[in-house]
Amino acid sequence: MCSVNDAEFETDDELMQPDEVPQTEGAICKKCNENNAEVVLRVKDTYCSTCFLAASTHKFRATIGKSKLVRPTDSILIGHSGKAGSTVLLHLIKAGMSEAVHKRLMYKTTVLYVDDGAVLGQTVDQRKSTISAIREQVHGLGFTGYAVSLNESLHSSEPKIYPLDEEAEDLKGDSDVVDLFNAVSSYTSKEELLHKLRQKLLISVARSLGCCKVFTADGATDLAITILSNIALGRGAQLPLDVGFVDSRELDIKILRPMRDFTRKELIYYLNFHKLETIQTPGLTTKKEPYTSIQKLTEKFVTELNTEFSGTVSAIFRTGEKLSIGNLEASNLIETCALCRAQLDTVFTNTSSLQATEFSKLISAEGPKGNIGKAAFELKKFPCVIDAAENVPLRDSKNCDNCSCSKGKEKFEMSAKNFEKYLCYGCRLIFKDLDKQHSIPDFLQNSVRQRISLDDMREEIADFLL
Ligand SMILES: [Zn+2]
Ligand SMILES: [Zn+2]
Repeated sequence: MCSVNDAEFETDDELMQPDEVPQTEGAICKKCNENNAEVVLRVKDTYCSTCFLAASTHKFRATIGKSKLVRPTDSILIGHSGKAGSTVLLHLIKAGMSEAVHKRLMYKTTVLYVDDGAVLGQTVDQRKSTISAIREQVHGLGFTGYAVSLNESLHSSEPKIYPLDEEAEDLKGDSDVVDLFNAVSSYTSKEELLHKLRQKLLISVARSLGCCKVFTADGATDLAITILSNIALGRGAQLPLDVGFVDSRELDIKILRPMRDFTRKELIYYLNFHKLETIQTPGLTTKKEPYTSIQKLTEKFVTELNTEFSGTVSAIFRTGEKLSIGNLEASNLIETCALCRAQLDTVFTNTSSLQATEFSKLISAEGPKGNIGKAAFELKKFPCVIDAAENVPLRDSKNCDNCSCSKGKEKFEMSAKNFEKYLCYGCRLIFKDLDKQHSIPDFLQNSVRQRISLDDMREEIADFLL
């Protein structure tokens, strides 16, 4: 129960007051003290356009520079969506490439557009038109690049990419990913799945193109929303990877977020001063109610609060920045999630919140006359801990349905319960929303198959050593 008594706040004076509406009229730039102010940030910080743009460039380069992770000759893949963040990102990189020699950015950059139009309900013609607009925009910013369909994320093979300059030949073969999204019931899980598949595809394409880093355009406002929604979605243990400057869950390719210090307001000022156009495409929950998904509701909460209290985004963002986890690179043996590749947070300890959640679920399922989790205590396990015996269908070899080979081919009838052992808590929630009749994507089946083989090998080695 909340202990705060309403009577403690009898007058409005005791409540936090909303910020005043910022004004630029008659104000002077606080940086150069000469030009008229055209930008107001944090309510009272006024800048002229020249000082604002210089500060933006400095901030971008400082974010990259202070990490010391990017070498001048690195090959970098840039995830481009056509929206504000990645448009500004491309413009900043191009401007950096034209600087004087000692300040020049020398990266070998490749732009990649992930075509997720099929799951967003776009027709083939609409997707072609979006790709064409992206092509024009990317050319206008001085780059060339590639496009890839989100459907490619579902397979273990190398993703098929095509140059943006070429017309997309066949955009019809995306039924796998559309079927998968249709089989997921909640928009919260659909948004999660879309994000995880996009990340996976960026890593796969970077690997196949020989890029060692991926730049994504997540800004401060996006990351503040991600911090709160991830906590609500049970992804608190992964926050440093999901919102920090570097996402190092893959050992060979790092995802970097060089736009993380830019708020949405700053991006809009930057676009306006440089007269840059963005490509707006609808998201999964565009034009839907705020309660459609946890992410959409969190976005509404953060952005609306930020309009009245301008420090909201930075307060959330700076708090999230302080979180850290151990060095994943220190051990190759750490178990990772088969979908998002974050460290598994589902190993029970005596005081884990997952244990508490599962115990609570078990008791609730037994109803008022249940024997308070007696079964759980007797078996010394909770439902989410998969006993080895329950894994049988995963290892079963069945005769191939599609050919007449005498040996038979392994067919993995993988239920959600079979493979949830290899997923983190957040990813389990996605697949809890998956229609049980729908098959698990190929790449996940393969990943789980490899892990089972690895577990078997470990057991054999352990037995041998004993
Ligand atoms: Zn100025
Ligand atoms: Zn996961």
